[in-house]
Amino acid sequence: MELAAKALARVLLPFAHLNAPGHARHVACQWALGMRFPKEDLTGLTPATYAAFTTARTEAFWKDGQLIGLTSGHRDAAVQHRMYIEDLQRPGLTTVLHPAESEHVRGTAMDIRPREGAQWLEDNGARYNLYRTYDNEWWHFEYRLRRPERLPYPGAVRAYR
Ligand SMILES: [Zn+2]
Repeated sequence: MELAAKALARVLLPFAHLNAPGHARHVACQWALGMRFPKEDLTGLTPATYAAFTTARTEAFWKDGQLIGLTSGHRDAAVQHRMYIEDLQRPGLTTVLHPAESEHVRGTAMDIRPREGAQWLEDNGARYNLYRTYDNEWWHFEYRLRRPERLPYPGAVRAYR
């Protein structure tokens, strides 16, 4: 599957060049990843988050052969609220943030896959202002202007107050 995506990107490259001269590798990469991860939805990310994420994964793709897909990006407040309520009703630690606190609602958080892609972003994301923010979520990254303190889990700050 990964080989197929890479082969596809090479096939798409000339068309991407016609479509976006000077950005062909960037565009071909997004097309190929869109086909590799057909359910991903990048709408609702802030423009800076979108630019950082697509630029980072273009580098991961062409330079290091890593395919990075988006599992969950922007969530509207109603969806986040439903997840929050469901999580409250489960026994154990609450780890879903209220919509007012969620970076997914703000459009600056990305849950990504696969694990190797997340490792690449953990190692290289700072160049793009993308940071892993929780010890217990290898998949969750946020666009931040400065490296944030990494927390043990979502909501940890509230728990420590
Ligand atoms: Zn997340």
